[in-house]
Amino acid sequence: MKIEVRDLRFSYPGGVEALCGVCLTVEAGELVAIVGQNGSGKTTLVKHWNGLLKPTAGEVIVGGWNTADHSVAQLAARVGYIFQNPDEQLFCATVCGEVAFGPQNLGFDEVEVDQQVKSALAMTGLGGLEQTNPYDLSTSRRKMVAVASVLAMNTPVIVFDEPTTGQDHVTIERIREIVQRLHGEGKTVIAITHDIDFCVENFERVIVMGNGRVLLDGEAGEVLTQEAVLASTAVDPPQLIRLGLRLGFNQPVRNVDEFIAAYQRWKSRR
Ligand code: ADP
Repeated sequence: MKIEVRDLRFSYPGGVEALCGVCLTVEAGELVAIVGQNGSGKTTLVKHWNGLLKPTAGEVIVGGWNTADHSVAQLAARVGYIFQNPDEQLFCATVCGEVAFGPQNLGFDEVEVDQQVKSALAMTGLGGLEQTNPYDLSTSRRKMVAVASVLAMNTPVIVFDEPTTGQDHVTIERIREIVQRLHGEGKTVIAITHDIDFCVENFERVIVMGNGRVLLDGEAGEVLTQEAVLASTAVDPPQLIRLGLRLGFNQPVRNVDEFIAAYQRWKSRR
């Protein structure tokens, strides 16, 4: 499902202009990371996609719907948004109730709800915890409940807000697998992240924001070599890219295998 953002401006009550004319298009099935310093407008931008916020000026079109003309409830069937802090999202007394809430609300029948809940719990490793209160679980597991509650709605677009922050290695690996699987199913996956290694290893396109504007937008390796622009919004390129830049590699390297191949080419040229 295509998302079009046309000259989007947004001011919070009290006058902070959080978005100052953002233009971008995300095509169906894209894998996109949004990076940039705190306060650069990332969350404000994605909250326009599910209608939590409405433009002060400009337009946001999600699958042909102008979000100004549709409710949050309608847009919830199209864009799933996983909050950074699961405690802002969870409110049911059981894991099962929490994960079933979304699909029930979207009007799925009982069989579909059951299927979606089972599949979401399996993907997030929560099988067997159906009757547990989410608040009796660890922070990592609670995060997974929040992820499962959005996966169960089977939306064509899924937005993760800081999915890896504060998570252990096992949970980060599981999130990586979920992102890849959703991408494999043809869904649009967007992540706001400060985790630049997670970003370069898993996302094809990177949008860099600063002061309510898009500073860079393109292929991950190309964008993450733009050290000066990244520095202006407090983003450090991934370590391997930095090392490659210092060594004078003529192509960006996104992972260890690419680094080794580039290093061997670099050595043979010397
Ligand atoms: P990011 O997600 O990149 O950290 P945000 O979208 O949260 O950035 O914030 C963009 C700007 O909007 C910041 O200046 C922030 O202080 C301001 N802002 C965010 N939420 C609110 C709010 N609820 N009320 C007023 N200002 C806000």
